[in-house]
Amino acid sequence: RTAATATPTATPGDVAARATAGFRQRYGVQPAGRWAAPGRVNLIGEHTDYNDGFVLPFALPLRTVVAAAPRDDERWTVWSELSSDPVEFGPAEVDEPGRVTGWAAYVAGVVWSLRAAGQAVPGARLAVASDVPVGSGLSSSAAVEAAVLAALVELGGLDLPTDRWPRLAQRAENGYVGAPTGIMDQSAVIRGRAGHALFLDCRSEEVEQIPFDLDSAGLAVLVVDSRAPHRHADGEYAARRASCEEAARILGVPALRDVTVAELDAALGKLPDGETRRRVRHVVTENQRVLDAVELLRAGRVRDTGPLLTASHASMRDDFEITVPEVDTAVDAALAAGAYGARMTGGGFGGCVLALVDADRAPAVADAVTTAYAERGFAAPGTLTVLPADGAARLG
Ligand code: ADP
Ligand code: MG
Repeated sequence: RTAATATPTATPGDVAARATAGFRQRYGVQPAGRWAAPGRVNLIGEHTDYNDGFVLPFALPLRTVVAAAPRDDERWTVWSELSSDPVEFGPAEVDEPGRVTGWAAYVAGVVWSLRAAGQAVPGARLAVASDVPVGSGLSSSAAVEAAVLAALVELGGLDLPTDRWPRLAQRAENGYVGAPTGIMDQSAVIRGRAGHALFLDCRSEEVEQIPFDLDSAGLAVLVVDSRAPHRHADGEYAARRASCEEAARILGVPALRDVTVAELDAALGKLPDGETRRRVRHVVTENQRVLDAVELLRAGRVRDTGPLLTASHASMRDDFEITVPEVDTAVDAALAAGAYGARMTGGGFGGCVLALVDADRAPAVADAVTTAYAERGFAAPGTLTVLPADGAARLG
């Protein structure tokens, strides 16, 4: 097999051990504790977040672990496996977004966000290790933010219930790092639960745990990293967002969330061109697919969500036009190999594909995708079989 087929790591001990070893090596003492947060993948609901709509992510069994200990002064030293040298900063750098750059900005951003919320953040030494692939769309960034946040909250004895954490972590990424992301990633990695997907209403920010028990149904989700280079992703994202906002304005609604499937035909008739009509059709039907998936999962009909996943992909490919040949190839190959459903997940123009499969068929479906890639001359994809896992927590 050419694919780097990783099995679900039910062994967070390895990454935790690396964080501890890194901490001891850098700082010469034992950490006071270790805190973990997972990556995430979005089961369904793409480009619905900024339209005030619905998403349904779940946390992955791949984790980022932060080993940490308090220090006596008000300074922070951070080290990560991603970089050889630790980075140190104090209040002056933290309180001016942009001063700490690179990967350490995600850590400084959390300190900044907590301080901006009036919290007395303790000085600390931190060491970061991770099994979450970086920059593949599985939210390694939110995993770092959440693990650091969990560590600082506990080290400082801060009075901060976890339902406030997603917003604080999101602010770190928006306001300090400067990445304009929504609330989905942080919600999923903080509030995700094993055996569940997290139904998030992006307007009210209310969340609900939805049973997503793949294991007892003999199912699994195969995640394929398309390894496609992100082509013009930022500009295309901005263009899609602008189209949606313009369409909502023409339709006289606060956001496309406010158009139902029953109202869709009438709404399309008011729009000026075919492209805008296709964009709106994607968002409106995608919101409905999320609601339909939630209903099926509530009824325990996990397998039956497959066609919704595949319909979501077709909508992203034909109406929203955000897929690329690599992801279309992965979806088609997974379906041909017996997946119940498959779709691109994430903002598009590359990133990951997920497929709902019988757990014992996952390796065969992964092989089929890898073979299809080789036939097309694409660089080999990464594949990973996952079950929904728990969100951020202190490790025992
Ligand atoms: P994604 O969240 O999809 O993986 P992003 O571009 O949002 O991709 O975030 C990736 C960035 O997050 C990395 O470039 C790095 O700056 C930071 N990051 C992620 N994981 C780690 C880690 N283990 N250690 C340090 N920084 C990390
Ligand atoms: Mg990210």
